[in-house]
Amino acid sequence: FLKLTLVGRLHVVHIAAEMAPVAKVGGLGDVVTGLSKALQKKGHLVEIVLPKYDCMNYDLIRDLKVLDMPVESEYDGQPFKNKIWVGTVEGLPVYFIEPLHPSKFFWRGQFYGEHDDFKRFSFFSRAALELLHQAGKRPDIIHCHDWQTAFVGGRGLHSTLKSHSKKFAGILNGIDTDAWNPATDPFLKVKYSSNDIEGKAKNKETLRRHLGLSSANVRQPLVACITRLVPQKGVHLIRHAIYRTLELGGQFVLLGSSPVPKIQREFEDIANHFKTHDHARLVLKYDESLSHLIYAASDMLIIPSLFEPCGLTQMIAMRYGSIPIARKTGGLNDSVFDVDDDTIPVLYRNGFTFSAADERAFSNALGRAFYHYNNDGDGWKQLVQKDMKIDFSWDSSASLYEELYAKSVASARSANLT
Ligand code: ADP
Repeated sequence: FLKLTLVGRLHVVHIAAEMAPVAKVGGLGDVVTGLSKALQKKGHLVEIVLPKYDCMNYDLIRDLKVLDMPVESEYDGQPFKNKIWVGTVEGLPVYFIEPLHPSKFFWRGQFYGEHDDFKRFSFFSRAALELLHQAGKRPDIIHCHDWQTAFVGGRGLHSTLKSHSKKFAGILNGIDTDAWNPATDPFLKVKYSSNDIEGKAKNKETLRRHLGLSSANVRQPLVACITRLVPQKGVHLIRHAIYRTLELGGQFVLLGSSPVPKIQREFEDIANHFKTHDHARLVLKYDESLSHLIYAASDMLIIPSLFEPCGLTQMIAMRYGSIPIARKTGGLNDSVFDVDDDTIPVLYRNGFTFSAADERAFSNALGRAFYHYNNDGDGWKQLVQKDMKIDFSWDSSASLYEELYAKSVASARSANLT
């Protein structure tokens, strides 16, 4: 009997601060959309609650309209009204909360990086719950993402979390294989697939021309990095990678921007230094379309994170035939396996990894990648084709979420019965 109730149709509400492609800063946006689409495809009722940011990509929201149902929520002990909008994004129903609060929490021209982010998102969290309550929704699962649960994401709570460790589970993210597909990607002039990777070289040529890099040597390896420039991502190793790549005779492209003024300034200086260089370019902004071209054009992608809950760029890179060079941490450790590591079955080996978060360890991994690229062209081509074929779709991860949801619903129901 329990088994039957477990597999039923679930009503899942995601409460999140991002959703690609309308409001994306990093991987969270990809995850909310990718997971929701996969769960919807499995027959579940999925809804999303987002803040109504002024800076969203409104062109990509269908049938946006305001609901005749103001929701009241409390903040600092006082009641405030919220205007509720509803629309469709990527085929998914989305509620947008517009707080009628004098601080204009989501009219700031940016998603994050405001002095009162803490207040903005605690207001949003409370209002989202009030929306569900006042609209009479009774979801089986409320799935809170990142910011809302940041107090839990572990600082200072290690021992408390550890004593409840049985309640925690880790599920690797997937990627939206429709949005990230080099065979159909609308951002690429030349498409390609694992069976025919010739188009990859054409994208490399396009990127080099676009950024003003030298095209003299077709085989010169192109190393890329696409990231938010925050300490988590190993900024000192990213900086080191630029110089080390040049020493090894490669080209380097960075696409990244930083909410931390000191880091942004530091990278602006480096960007200026390489402004007209033949082999290195730093693009310090968020640019979705350029990111697609860089994944397609690059031969290697570095992800030297200090910690990484999951990480998506290594998966996207592999789908586009760019070989990841990643630090062995968190989700990177679960998805990137070293080509030279004899303890790992050959079938799983798909990139280059290093353990210590220092320049020597990183240089060793980068050096080995260059060695393979320069000395074993056929082997490299096979690696590219193999990585492109790996299934990083949401299908299997969404099934794991489904199981976890069903288990949680079952235990909540049995707790209610007792
Ligand atoms: P995080 O969520 O910590 O930022 P992830 O690896 O999970 O890291 O996801 C990063 C996502 O953000 C990827 O889709 C990546 O392509 C994208 N991204 C990061 N920086 C930029 C940028 N400057 N321009 C465009 N896309 C970016």
